[in-house]
Amino acid sequence: MSDEVTDLLQHLIRNECVNDGTESSGHEVRSADLLQSYLEGSGLDLERYEPVPGRTSLVGRIEGTDPEAPTLLLMGHTDVVPVNPDGWSHDPFGGELIDGEVWGRGAVDMLNLTASMAVAVKHLARGDFRPKGTLIYLAVADEEALGALGAQHLVDHEPDAIRADYVITESGGIPIPSPTGVKLPVIVGEKGSFWVKLRVKGTPGHGSQPYKTDNALVTAAAVVQRIAEYQPRTEIHAIWRQFLEGMDYPTEMVGPLLDPDAFVDACDQLPVGMGRQFHACTHTTFAPTIAHGGTKINVIPDRVDLQIDIRTLPGHGDAEVRAMLDEALGDLAPKVELIAAADDPSTASPMDTPLWDALGRVTQQFYAGSKIVPFMTVGATDARFFRRLGTTSYGFGLFSEHLSFEDYGAMFHGDDERIDVESLQLSTAMWEALSHDLLT
Ligand SMILES: [Zn+2]
Repeated sequence: MSDEVTDLLQHLIRNECVNDGTESSGHEVRSADLLQSYLEGSGLDLERYEPVPGRTSLVGRIEGTDPEAPTLLLMGHTDVVPVNPDGWSHDPFGGELIDGEVWGRGAVDMLNLTASMAVAVKHLARGDFRPKGTLIYLAVADEEALGALGAQHLVDHEPDAIRADYVITESGGIPIPSPTGVKLPVIVGEKGSFWVKLRVKGTPGHGSQPYKTDNALVTAAAVVQRIAEYQPRTEIHAIWRQFLEGMDYPTEMVGPLLDPDAFVDACDQLPVGMGRQFHACTHTTFAPTIAHGGTKINVIPDRVDLQIDIRTLPGHGDAEVRAMLDEALGDLAPKVELIAAADDPSTASPMDTPLWDALGRVTQQFYAGSKIVPFMTVGATDARFFRRLGTTSYGFGLFSEHLSFEDYGAMFHGDDERIDVESLQLSTAMWEALSHDLLT
């Protein structure tokens, strides 16, 4: 079985389903074809969905015998983000197996889980698995470009195909050592995004006489600086509190991280990757990422457009974000117009659920004495579409201890992405155990 999941992952990587955000990219049909031929003949019902040519999602199901029993949906995306091969030590689409690790784009985000879910579901379908509840496998397109041609399309137009009580997708499950044993984070919520375009205004003039001009580029530089230096309020929300308490960190570390007034200073003392995660988890954040302005070298610009990647905590919508922007800009606010905003709010699922309990039990088979802890991811996943339907949706997988939380985080959309074979085996076995626990 280890060869099977490794081999399937290698093929998914080699399919190079790169999603650059355009409708004609992705080509997930290649991996839908691959997975369909892999799963065919094992007794699964398979259906394909293709909102536009090439952007194919595949659904496989093992129908339960009891309509009252719960349905579990295992969802893995088949698309990946682009690469710059210059930063890689091996071919990013070679899917090479080197020293027990599979290399390539998607090895941790998230073809590893897409592959292990497929192998587990096939094994269950071929074996004597006759569950009361229904098990659905979804290999979904277009996760990396907000899901319009993948999960969102299915939720909006094919609800019968993907209706479930419980959904599991990326990420989570990286074992984190703690003073009281291994902790396994389960992603129960994610931050929202609020992407804005700001227009900074000025007055045009001749570049040869800059004295006392109203230069939009100079104002924009100050606007960028203020947004970068803005310190939003620390929010100690329930998921954060339960994560920290669950980790059993020393009291002297936990205290300041639960105190909004001491939090930022405490973050300064942590390793930078950890500090960055913890800060993002407890703040609505503002990152200026794009600036466009100026027309000609001898013209004082009258307009500069800025784009700000704002990531929101639960409860922070249009009104809250605008108030924070005003606060950040101060007396420059009248020179800045918000010309576009896309609000995709934060989502979360409850923790007192049968799925949570099942994960707690099943993980004992792989990490005896471990404990699952809730976490809020600072990125976005397809889970949000299901949470908005009221479906309990978590991010989880299972990984070996070869990979640290920091390595794992750095490989998402980064260079030299790779996964060890032991992690692939662990995840495969965990999906099977979870399906037995929850559905039979
Ligand atoms: Zn992903």
